[in-house]
Amino acid sequence: MNISDIQHLITEKAAKFLARGTHSLLIDGQWVQAQSGQTMDVINPATEEVLGKVPSAGKADVELAVSAARRAFDHGPWSKMHGTERERLLLKLADLLEANAQSFAEVEAMDNGKSAAIARAVDVAVSIDTLRYMAGWATKIEGATNDISVPIAPQAEFVAFTRREAVGVVAAVVPWNFPLLMAVWKLAPALAAGCTVVLKPAEQTPLTALMLGELILEAGFPPGVVNIIIGDGPSAGAPLVSHPGIDKVSFTGSTEVGKLIGKAAVENMTRFTLELGGKSPVIVLDDCDPATAAAGAAQAIFFNHGQVCCAGSRLYVQKKMFDRVVADVAQIAESMPLGHGLDPAAQMGPLVSQEQMERVCNYIDIGRTQGAQVVTGGGRAKDKGYYVQPTILTNVNHGMRVQQEEIFGPVLTAMPYDDLDQVAAWANDTSYGLGASIWSNNLSKVHRLIPKIKAGSVWVNCHSMLNPAMPFGGYKQSGIGRDLGKAALDSYLETKSVFIAV
Ligand code: NAD
Repeated sequence: MNISDIQHLITEKAAKFLARGTHSLLIDGQWVQAQSGQTMDVINPATEEVLGKVPSAGKADVELAVSAARRAFDHGPWSKMHGTERERLLLKLADLLEANAQSFAEVEAMDNGKSAAIARAVDVAVSIDTLRYMAGWATKIEGATNDISVPIAPQAEFVAFTRREAVGVVAAVVPWNFPLLMAVWKLAPALAAGCTVVLKPAEQTPLTALMLGELILEAGFPPGVVNIIIGDGPSAGAPLVSHPGIDKVSFTGSTEVGKLIGKAAVENMTRFTLELGGKSPVIVLDDCDPATAAAGAAQAIFFNHGQVCCAGSRLYVQKKMFDRVVADVAQIAESMPLGHGLDPAAQMGPLVSQEQMERVCNYIDIGRTQGAQVVTGGGRAKDKGYYVQPTILTNVNHGMRVQQEEIFGPVLTAMPYDDLDQVAAWANDTSYGLGASIWSNNLSKVHRLIPKIKAGSVWVNCHSMLNPAMPFGGYKQSGIGRDLGKAALDSYLETKSVFIAV
């Protein structure tokens, strides 16, 4: 796709950014190419055409970025900045992002494949809210005073208190499904806490992070406080997370890579937070309105084309309503227009990459081979662009891979159940525990189910609801630690106990 062909569809700022063709890394406040001079293509998944080139960072660039972040943390103006100043900078960044919201949404749409309207309403809007929410914490970091006695020094008196201190240099490694938003989920609490950051966006979707880098400089963050390196997992991600100059790794991505990162971090005793995959259940009780539940279930799986860590990918409907709810979800799936992210009529775009499209189609085939029945959808949707049909599989069971593994695409499995004990057991019968939704108007049944579900978030009569004030993360193999809320801020702080003998 030529930029001139779509110029009339996008803002001048987005067009100018894309027209650059080749982009740069942000290290120590400077825009630079990779030390090796190597670049990689960024592909528009709707057209399969090259959208731009980005430097392909390696170990040498990681070294420079970590050194810059280290200097900024240990010696730069950032190390002396009070919380009020960090708050002001984060609020300025939020204002700048708000002023450029449409351009960010358009570039996100072309880089990731999602709808620009949704990118603006969700990805960009929630990024702005998260920056503002976390900005407020910068001035509210506090320890506690303790009234203590110490058995080995019974005569002594002490003043004792705790201090909260920024953990240091953070490596933030993020995925491609919400590129800007995932970057902000890491940057906002880390900067509010007083840390410096080396951000590594996913190699498939690096563009909005680079646009954000420009706003970070414009807002006035000192050089080295935020560094952005682009590169793939093995070349850039692995040397970053295993670098001894990193004090904390904050990762969002697959469980498989999360385990590698956890092991690498432990080698240096680097702190880490892992936000990983999911296989979240949608549980429909037979007291609720079937049409409402079906609309909710469709939204839970098809939003962002199913590329959502907490997507409602397993539907359980109480027996007597099963056929009706599945038929309604299928009807919604079949009526969803697929198209380019800049097409306002499109409700679902392409998956992020050819690899992801093939992975999802392969899972549908595995489901078929293991005996699942395809109610609707079932494979690739267009010859050009990485589109996959919204797909529903029935006749599934808990021994099947499609019922156990994260597909990360628009594929829903559906099973009927008899009673609450059975559905609670099935809901927990995967290695994941990120989210779950319950659809019912029966309060006592809902309250009986909530404590039984092993998941970091439970939604009732809604799904995938998030808010910057509400901690988000997983039980079991869905992760360790929490993004968002005060819990996220705390994960970028150390606690120091101080005893003063008086
Ligand atoms: P991924 O794990 O393949 O990649 C994520 C990031 O890790 C990318 O930046 C990648 O370059 C980097 N990476 C890959 N190998 C690495 C290595 N060895 N060392 C260091 N970094 C490495 O995940 P993905 O395919 O980009 O994203 C999809 C996954 O993310 C899904 O599993 C999804 O559930 C998960 N996710 C989780 C959350 C959450 O909050 N729990 C949110 C969004 C996405």
